[in-house]
Amino acid sequence: MLPHFPYKRVLFVKAALEYPLGRQVWQRCKDLQLETIQLKGSRVTGIPGKTPRESYFQGKQTLVVSVRRDLEFAACKPSAHFQLPLVSGCPGMCEYCYLQTQMGKRPYTRLYVNIEEILDQAKSVIDSRQPHVTVFEAAATSDPLPVEPLTGALAQAIAFFAGQPLGRLRFVTKFPQVDSLLDLDHRGHTRIRFSVNTPSVVARFEHHTPSVKLRLKALQKAARAGYPAGVLIAPVILEPGWEESYRALLEEISRLGLQGADIRFEIISHRFTTRAKKRIAEVFPESTLPMDEGQSRQFKFGQFGYGKYVYDEGSLAAMKSFFEKEIAARFPGDVIDYII
Ligand code: SF4
Repeated sequence: MLPHFPYKRVLFVKAALEYPLGRQVWQRCKDLQLETIQLKGSRVTGIPGKTPRESYFQGKQTLVVSVRRDLEFAACKPSAHFQLPLVSGCPGMCEYCYLQTQMGKRPYTRLYVNIEEILDQAKSVIDSRQPHVTVFEAAATSDPLPVEPLTGALAQAIAFFAGQPLGRLRFVTKFPQVDSLLDLDHRGHTRIRFSVNTPSVVARFEHHTPSVKLRLKALQKAARAGYPAGVLIAPVILEPGWEESYRALLEEISRLGLQGADIRFEIISHRFTTRAKKRIAEVFPESTLPMDEGQSRQFKFGQFGYGKYVYDEGSLAAMKSFFEKEIAARFPGDVIDYII
């Protein structure tokens, strides 16, 4: 039985039922008495919603079970070489989600059932790049954990990468369903990172996501199971009292007793685009997310060519030195990947 299933309806594209995993997911959904709909082809239709807000919420409660046809993996700089497309989308409703402007008006989750074909392709990519190590990111356009109890796709990928001397997997999540991954023979080839924030930021902006306590518990379990692990603190919101709040969060992480484990830190300050701001206003008209272009912000062109509002130089410098100092005080050694 799934601990908590966040979807209201599950749509199956026709071809998905030709795969054993597709049929297995179908059966599990039936057992759970979920609304299951078999689509006529591969076009996703039938998700209700008249307004942008309604369409967003209905999309978030929809899971599409599908077959991945495009096996050209997209690049995933700077954290990995390629994306590993097992899932796209996420049932969480974080106001500042990076997928906010990427998933269309009805941001459903899509999972793929042809895992073997996707992993075969990963193998070809790894082989073509030897003697170099190739790193794949399984959470580039998704949070892959919520559907893991249904598919076991990550477990299959972790087992696959354990057998690849030159292949590495990584993913980041806000969800704690890691139990099925703990006993796998991962050989340290998969890094599991948890995205966290202060309880106040989570409560205000990360709707339909688990608490920080649950995420940290899952981090502790993953690290104790010998996985290389990581903490992503994002987005850092520089509001009055931010130092105390983030210090308390780092203190909580340090109390997990994971010093000495392989844990990396990634820290990302809050930024937004004009497009994202408009989309957030449509979906969350009551949002209190600080997005005032004039206040402590500067406009910058990012690596993908579009402009975004980031904090000004002075604020970013203060944030950087704060995290460097506070992390060093609790986690010895070189544990920070980046602070941006
Ligand atoms: S959990 Fe991650 S992927 Fe899901 S909505 Fe929140 S930020 Fe987006």
